[in-house]
Amino acid sequence: MNGPQRMDRPQVYAPSPARAEGAVVRTAEGAVVRTAEGGAVRTAGGAPAHRPIHAPARPAGIPSADIPLAGRAIGAIGAIGAIGAIGALARRAGRMCRTLLPSACALCGRVQAEVVCAACVAEHFAPEPRCPLCALRSPQGRRCLPCRADPPPIDAALTLGDYAPPLDALVLALKRGVALPHARWFAEALADRLADPHAGTPPARPAASYRPWPDLLIPIPLARERLATRGFNQAWEIARPLGRRLGIPSDATVLARRGDAAMQHLLNLNDRLANVQGAFVVTRRAAIEGRHIGIVDDVMTTGATLREAAYVLKAHGAVRITVLCALRTP
Ligand SMILES: [Zn+2]
Ligand SMILES: [Zn+2]
Repeated sequence: MNGPQRMDRPQVYAPSPARAEGAVVRTAEGAVVRTAEGGAVRTAGGAPAHRPIHAPARPAGIPSADIPLAGRAIGAIGAIGAIGAIGALARRAGRMCRTLLPSACALCGRVQAEVVCAACVAEHFAPEPRCPLCALRSPQGRRCLPCRADPPPIDAALTLGDYAPPLDALVLALKRGVALPHARWFAEALADRLADPHAGTPPARPAASYRPWPDLLIPIPLARERLATRGFNQAWEIARPLGRRLGIPSDATVLARRGDAAMQHLLNLNDRLANVQGAFVVTRRAAIEGRHIGIVDDVMTTGATLREAAYVLKAHGAVRITVLCALRTP
């Protein structure tokens, strides 16, 4: 009649004809309880126990039949502890899943653990000689003609590859919000590239240095309406893990789009006067004055936006600008 017994669970919770009103039943832990109508469990002292089927075991040596209040209190504490333990377990399991479980490479579909598999990284993300100021491909990594003719207020620019098929799919999926892990992957790849600009390939010229690293990372802000519809700023989603990985602070409130009312109130009078034109405003000059700023964006298209942001930041006292963009329109 008895099924397999679990020593951590009382045996008397399901309503049963055999457990009529007043029936005395012994739990697995040896506590004596009395069932009431509908199968509700009452302790020997008559107080309702209300313990659910999956209630945690009572600590040994404290029979609830003898001290029902203490027993119930300890049961409640145990339940809270169990919820906390389950949460911690779920978090740990989530971390393990991210580390251990395979997923499909976003470019070739091969099953592996990273967003982009090693073969695709080697094929599509090999460092190319690029203009050090605008990140366009350039023979021997020399400054391109436009940058020589009209140098941007950017001191160094780093990208992972061209914004073209198949890599553009990574950014498009990120922007659609269906692939936020891509932002973290871009951040990791940018950090690796920043640390070793020619990793894995023979350098086309003496390795460009991106040191010293920026003091502060700032994402290109989204227009307020776009932020509202998209729900996140993909540049910030890249900047935040990139900063954590490099040990550099990141701040999404220093640079704002002009006309963003939510940011305007952060400006003091001097900053209002300094922000008289252009697409961006600096909300806190003190945060950037005398500092090397890394501007982070998902895609550098014409470079005009990043140029404008760099200009505004330098106008407010930034001493050096490094652009870190995931991909570059060729
Ligand atoms: Zn792949
Ligand atoms: Zn250039």
